[in-house]
Amino acid sequence: MKSHYRVVVIGGGVVGASVLYHLAKFGWKDVCIIERSVLTAGSSWHAAGGFHALNADPNIAALQAYTIDLLSEIERESGQSVGMHMTGGLTLAGTPDRWEWLQSAYRVFQSIGIEDVRLVTPEEAGELCPVMSTEGILGGMWADREGYIDTTGTVHAYAGAAKKNGAEVIEHNRVLELHQTSDGWQVVTEQGTVTCEHVVNAGGLWAKQVGRMAGIELPVSPLEHHYLLTETIPEIAALDGELPLVVDLEGFTYMRQDLKGMLLGIYEVNHKHWMMDGAPWEYGIELLQEDIDRIEHELTLGFQRYPVLQRAGVRNWVNGAFTFSPDGNPLVGPVPGKRGYWSACAVMAGFLQGGGVGKSLAEWMIHGEPEADVYGMDVARYGPFAENKQYIKETTGQFYTRRFVMTYPNEQLPAGRPLRMAPAHDAMTEAGCVWGQSWGLEVPLYFAPTGFEETPSLKRSNAFDIVGTECRQVRETVGLLDIAGFSRFEVSGDGAEAWLDRMMASKLPAAGRARLAPMLSPEGRLKGDLTVFNWGDGTWWIMGSYYLRAWHMRWFRDHLDAGVDLRDISDGIVGFSLSGPRSREVMQRLTDGPIDALPFMGCGSFDVGLYRCKVGRLSVAGELGYEVHCGAAEHIGLRRALLEAGADSGIAEYGYNALLSLRLEKSFGIWSAEFTQGYTPGMTGMDRWIAWDKGDFVGREAAIAERDGTGPAQRLVTLEIDAKDADASGFEPIWENGSRVGFVTSGGYGYTVGKSLAMALVNTELAEVGRSLTVHVVGAERAARIIPPSPYDPEGRAMRL
Ligand SMILES: Cc1cc2nc3c(=O)[nH]c(=O)nc-3n(C[C@H](O)[C@H](O)[C@H](O)COP(=O)(O)OP(=O)(O)OC[C@H]3O[C@@H](n4cnc5c(N)ncnc54)[C@H](O)[C@@H]3O)c2cc1C
Repeated sequence: MKSHYRVVVIGGGVVGASVLYHLAKFGWKDVCIIERSVLTAGSSWHAAGGFHALNADPNIAALQAYTIDLLSEIERESGQSVGMHMTGGLTLAGTPDRWEWLQSAYRVFQSIGIEDVRLVTPEEAGELCPVMSTEGILGGMWADREGYIDTTGTVHAYAGAAKKNGAEVIEHNRVLELHQTSDGWQVVTEQGTVTCEHVVNAGGLWAKQVGRMAGIELPVSPLEHHYLLTETIPEIAALDGELPLVVDLEGFTYMRQDLKGMLLGIYEVNHKHWMMDGAPWEYGIELLQEDIDRIEHELTLGFQRYPVLQRAGVRNWVNGAFTFSPDGNPLVGPVPGKRGYWSACAVMAGFLQGGGVGKSLAEWMIHGEPEADVYGMDVARYGPFAENKQYIKETTGQFYTRRFVMTYPNEQLPAGRPLRMAPAHDAMTEAGCVWGQSWGLEVPLYFAPTGFEETPSLKRSNAFDIVGTECRQVRETVGLLDIAGFSRFEVSGDGAEAWLDRMMASKLPAAGRARLAPMLSPEGRLKGDLTVFNWGDGTWWIMGSYYLRAWHMRWFRDHLDAGVDLRDISDGIVGFSLSGPRSREVMQRLTDGPIDALPFMGCGSFDVGLYRCKVGRLSVAGELGYEVHCGAAEHIGLRRALLEAGADSGIAEYGYNALLSLRLEKSFGIWSAEFTQGYTPGMTGMDRWIAWDKGDFVGREAAIAERDGTGPAQRLVTLEIDAKDADASGFEPIWENGSRVGFVTSGGYGYTVGKSLAMALVNTELAEVGRSLTVHVVGAERAARIIPPSPYDPEGRAMRL
């Protein structure tokens, strides 16, 4: 062990080994793993080693596909076998909804370019896996590139290939303490102290403690997980080839061949956490006591699915622990507020995802940004609220229990809720509010009559008419929306204006004005679709998506200048948005300030009833509208005042489901759909907000190169779809004469234009109004046309009333 490294990776499981491999391969050679015991000594040694294609997040599915391709590469580079069994795999659907869902998932695979998958009938499934009963199976999806590997061999292959590139592996050396220094970290280990610029927490079952060494509470917890291995099964021994990997979603099991027998793994509904504060340091290469009573129900289903199991002897039970985050995706990236501390934790399926995690993290460390949009696994998608132990317990438990349970897009899951509530929450609940959640905050979805229950559905649900009524309310009279769920950052100080001008690609608004402001990365990709307010007194606001609070703050802090005072004020400042042609008269009744003179995109301070509020004249719904911001303690009173003042104008409250439809009718994009860190201004139309003639700003060179180059390969368009009972939601493939030419970024029903709408990225040469295409919506192919943007009020007159 040397006394200094550029990077110390703590933990020699599959994830740490992959991070080491990618760092060394991409050019950072002065790197090491420090491992408490031997490589694989955490979860990695006893994993089932399966890999399969499905993931609910298409970006993560793409990184899984990368990992699968990588396995043979590391075998070649290291000379160490990974024990590859590329058997192919089946995912089974056992209910009509699941079968529809699987058909949609198949189409999403096509959208992200994973072509080696196909749908199969129950009969075909039975032929592909002859020891399986197809009873109750409605269909399945076959993927060529699924199977299993030897777990220990794979970890050694990553590490061996890393060593060939100059990296070091130090075993039998526990990291005891971490101390931040002015230029990196001091890593105190059993074998002495080393310094480094960066530490990577790849501590797996011990990630919690390795976080606490640096004062970080990661939202991660281990849970127990079982599989069984059988003796030789004659029916399997007699087969010519090998059984495929099979995931029986309704049966809660996965299965693969093991020698001449079977491995059956179980995701039981009755989950069990293990050592929530992290595994004991002395925990060795050992297993937990199996608990067959707890998994009995799922086991019975497994024995029915594979009748040969009823005659087979169990050779071995494996009950081991591995780690989960609240949403089941990894926690990767720079930990906010801890320079040089990187997370590579909570990787639930390390053999499937470890390659993508290692690649993204290494790119991030070396180049400042990962190549792919990895928001879905970014450690900054959580905030301090997720440090709470009960929250972690409820949410990780919910994820484990629901691992194979179908979640509908309109379904609201209960774990860890309600957690954060704006003050008017209870009054709104009384008014019929149905809640969703964003970054721990309850946000209104819609207002329903007492006793209404929304049916989980892949298609239009029974809340369809309720949301339609709310949309018409906004377009025809005036609607009131709680906007506690927007983020607000306050920027002040001598350097505020210059800093904002450098961070935003747009012009800055003049005093008393607001402006839409794209923010770019140095590579010219999007970092934000923000709104900047200039309050005229040296104070500026940046407003954006609430759930990106920690993510944006990390970016701002990493690029902060001296003389800039930056605060996230989203907890202290809340408010309401009034939208609709009668919103001005509601404001007039509450203020004697010059509200009539406030222009479109103007902003200022006004008395609104008893409250001194900041008001901006803008509306995401595309109507005459006002965003009225107040202190959290004023939320209840301001709502009451606005509702009372609006009674004669026919005011009613509405929620975000209606807002999502209204903004689609205006072709207004939103983050995580039309705008992501994987897309550029030219693709998404964000370039029209760029101030090309202003001085330097982050991403300027790359944006100019895009503007002056051959142009983006795809462009954002608005589609009208001949849908029937379901609308597009995102990532559905778009076709022209059988060729895939794009994908949907988001979709929904436009209630006030009476059309099923979508926004989509389509190959540039086809992105012209009037083009006829088709789109798969919930698995069914539908005709679609590119229509002019903003099907509602294309000239934008309503906003400027
Ligand atoms: C029963 C079971 C079946 C599974 N099946 C599959 C499967 O089929 N497919 C799949 O992809 N995944 C599967 N998994 C999950 C998989 O095992 C994990 O995703 C993976 O092992 C996580 O790897 P890791 O590197 O993050 O953590 P770990 O393997 O836990 O590695 C962490 C390492 O860090 C070391 N360490 C911790 N603290 C310190 C310290 N202070 N100093 C030095 N070293 C330290 C530990 O000793 C350990 O070696 C399964 C898991 C279990 C339990």
